[in-house]
Amino acid sequence: MDLSSGAHLPNERPHGLDLKGFMLKIDRLDAIGRLRNAERRIQALEQRVSELSLLDGVTSLPNHRHFADRLSQALLVAQRHGHIVAVLLLDVDRFKRVNDLLGHPGGDEVLRLLGQRLQEALRQGDTLACMGGDRFLVLLQEIKDVVAAARVGQKLLEALQVPFRAGSREIDLTASIGVCVFPNDGMDAHILEAHAESALVRAKERGGNRIECFTSTLNEVSLERQELESCLRSALQNGELQMYYQPQFFMDGRLAGAEALMRWNHPLLGAVPPVKFIPLAEESRLILPIGEWALREACGQMAKWQTISPSPLILAVNVSVLQFANGDWDACVARALADTGLEPGCLELELTESLVMRQGHEDLAPLHRLREIGTRIAIDDFGTGYSSLGYLQRLPITTLKLDQSFIAALQSEDPALSSDAIVRAVIQLAHSLNLTVVAEGVETEVQRDALELLGCDCLQGFLLGRPQPADAFEAMLEFMSTKQFLRKAAGRPREEAKVPQGVATGRGRGSR
Ligand code: C2E
Ligand code: MG
Ligand code: MG
Repeated sequence: MDLSSGAHLPNERPHGLDLKGFMLKIDRLDAIGRLRNAERRIQALEQRVSELSLLDGVTSLPNHRHFADRLSQALLVAQRHGHIVAVLLLDVDRFKRVNDLLGHPGGDEVLRLLGQRLQEALRQGDTLACMGGDRFLVLLQEIKDVVAAARVGQKLLEALQVPFRAGSREIDLTASIGVCVFPNDGMDAHILEAHAESALVRAKERGGNRIECFTSTLNEVSLERQELESCLRSALQNGELQMYYQPQFFMDGRLAGAEALMRWNHPLLGAVPPVKFIPLAEESRLILPIGEWALREACGQMAKWQTISPSPLILAVNVSVLQFANGDWDACVARALADTGLEPGCLELELTESLVMRQGHEDLAPLHRLREIGTRIAIDDFGTGYSSLGYLQRLPITTLKLDQSFIAALQSEDPALSSDAIVRAVIQLAHSLNLTVVAEGVETEVQRDALELLGCDCLQGFLLGRPQPADAFEAMLEFMSTKQFLRKAAGRPREEAKVPQGVATGRGRGSR
């Protein structure tokens, strides 16, 4: 029927038309109007049906079909322009627990909130889809590389860290994410999804709440040096660097302080050891901002801990050659102390033997200035370089840290390998120069007992406590600072004074 044919008819009553004819015409007009309305409703319904077939019923996010279409389109474009495309598959860890707790309507509500949270963590051009249930897919177009994709994954995991509110309950969620990228891990949508799935399975197998990439866990991938450097460049901004604290004890078991040791938690590589990234940071000069951050972070932390501790604690911070050679190094240290409120006498800067040996007399001026304001200076890994003993006397140092290799060789059965004689001599020499001796890498009771006999002042090592994050160190400090602990520690033999988290105590002489 031609619906437009009646367009000129309304409100007309042409001359010569009888009433019947007129009524007929009105009826026709009415029918045309109704038909038009029906046609509009059908169009709207069709639109809604097609929308619904592209949306997930619970979260109203694009569904899997919709995602697959978008991914296929994105791959066509990426192929033409040489872009990298990433697919992330996210699955909530143990979501069944939420459904059991809240029932399915409650579980759906949490999924809706989760969808919103994830959406907010993504950029506008990214596609978030829900595959149904507690699985979500993310499409990232024009991503730089797999590391950048994993970083987005990390953001998504972080977005889950705030608990979800369902009615009066708070629900904690974690998720696992599998990542893969076009073109490296697959050329079509189907394969990419399958590979994201197998990466996800591995993330679950490894305990959940983590990201895995299809190619490998990034622990297994040896990233090119350049790539690692570029990751390190953004590590500070991305909050991937963290300070750990390893306790140091006097020989009588009292806590003497802590050495601050840097940790890099890369979203994919996991924990990158300092021996790998510190030299890289030095070569790229990134150690300057990173080292300054470490110093300020650790000083701030220790200033806070001084208020908990019954006696002053020493904070040992490692310093790298580049920092040392940087003109305003001592001013930078003084600023960190002033800003954080840490007493200069509570800071001990650790420099390696070879670093100090390489400096000319004038280059040592910053050390002298720092010593003048009370800052302590330690020679780290002592015994590995070739310090002339006379040279030591001229340095403004307060502490020698005996290298781990000497501690490991203590009480060796083969007298030719035993380090007892050297350690005794070093300790005697240090004491004659009024220096404190810290033994690092103490791992056994035998080593501790030998060090006590040899007159060492302080101990540091796995036997007494591993490097630990600030909150764990603080818990240990609080525990050790309770009156009860102090009473017990004073009144009983060492073995009975229990310290949490495998922290044994040292004993014997020495104070600093
Ligand atoms: P270091 O300053 O000599 O630190 C002592 C290292 O020995 C630490 O390794 C510590 O975890 C480890 N250690 C402690 N007790 C034991 C033990 O009983 N047995 C064994 N086998 N090892 C023990 P880590 O944390 O891997 O640091 C390695 C090196 O990286 C440090 O050696 C230091 O030279 C450098 N480093 C760490 N953090 C920083 C930092 O913030 N700045 C700078 N410039 N260098 C740092
Ligand atoms: Mg050190
Ligand atoms: Mg050392």
